[in-house]
Amino acid sequence: MWQPEIETMGRGAARALQEERFQKAWKHIWDDAPAQRKLCRDAGVEQGDITSLEDLGKLPFTDKKAFTEHYPFGLFAVPPEEVVRLHSTSGTTSKPSMGGYTAGDMQNWKDLVARFCVMAGVSNRDTAHIAFGFGMFTGGFGLNYGLEHMGVRVLPMGSGQTEKQLMMMRDMRSTVLVSTPSYALYLAEAVREAGIRDELKLRVGLFGGEGHTPEMAAQIEENLGITATSNYGLCELGGPGLSGECLERQGMHIAEDHYYCEIIDPDTGKVLPEGETGELVVTPLTREALPLIRYRTKDITRLTSQPCACGRTSARMAPTLGRSDDMLIIRGVNVFPSQIESVLIRQEHIGPHYMLVVRREGVMDTLEVRVELIDGSALESYKLLERIRNTIQEQIRNILGLTVKVTLVAPQTVERFVGKARRVIDERGK
Ligand code: ZN
Repeated sequence: MWQPEIETMGRGAARALQEERFQKAWKHIWDDAPAQRKLCRDAGVEQGDITSLEDLGKLPFTDKKAFTEHYPFGLFAVPPEEVVRLHSTSGTTSKPSMGGYTAGDMQNWKDLVARFCVMAGVSNRDTAHIAFGFGMFTGGFGLNYGLEHMGVRVLPMGSGQTEKQLMMMRDMRSTVLVSTPSYALYLAEAVREAGIRDELKLRVGLFGGEGHTPEMAAQIEENLGITATSNYGLCELGGPGLSGECLERQGMHIAEDHYYCEIIDPDTGKVLPEGETGELVVTPLTREALPLIRYRTKDITRLTSQPCACGRTSARMAPTLGRSDDMLIIRGVNVFPSQIESVLIRQEHIGPHYMLVVRREGVMDTLEVRVELIDGSALESYKLLERIRNTIQEQIRNILGLTVKVTLVAPQTVERFVGKARRVIDERGK
């Protein structure tokens, strides 16, 4: 373990530490973050109304919208000269969320990333191939700092240039792959085509930046011969390091000494009991540059504090089922793309690359699942195609109660992603 005294702390002591840190965080917000203080006042809360974590429910939520409204630095709680690093979300449709770090935040970040890397079995004997983008995205630099801090040899490859990626992976004898799960799938395919799987030394994957189903993880493991682990974080909350998987892979251990997590009903905002599935809401406890109150992540998950066989005592979060933003409502049914992915990835003859197309035909919503065959020769057997299509259709109907259209397409015709995947095309309302 990287910080065993914290990672194995008793639940009572951990809660006491959270309480102590929350008091400081609350004071910091009230004294130094005027925009957030106003948000609280508007909700009828004064500083003295909040004396412990028990009172958290009285506080309003913050969300991505708050970042947009207060772009670029309105939510910050330190003067500009104390900020040593800025990152941001991609902000393709609106102003990006700006994330910031003080020197102290940077120290914590390194340790948080090192913690989940050690959890995944990475050590200073490893060589890590980082295929996350380097830039405003927190993934590349975050993993780079954490791994280097542990003494791991780091290759800051960045994303793209797949041929060069494969060459370096082979020649540098990389043992750890850091990427989004979508890019890992893409690399796996390239490895197979290049016929170099036996020359690679990869053994562990550290995957983040987007969610993935256990079925997709299994496929990446099989294709690359590695153990796949997930980690989680958001730019608004300080990047990767909020949680990560140990080798038991029974959910991602949350760094509870730095983050207080709640699960709410996304429609009513009501806090749900442990074990129930809902939206993750996070209050960071130690961030200096950018403390936040009750940040709504939009990620759907559930928490457990049951003991883990690895000996770590922190609560764990289940792999995110999807973002509440990604949820499609089709003929009144809630559909997460991950539910369809879990069906597709179990099938023979088809690859892991797919696209969901939603249309409105008359007053009816329709969902087309476009998925790629592994072997183009299957296209010549009408019987086989019919069988694959029917099986997929039936399994999706069993899970969602929806009849969808399944289209099988030739190999290499569905778009590949070097960063985060975009697997839904919603043509309704256009
Ligand atoms: Zn564990």
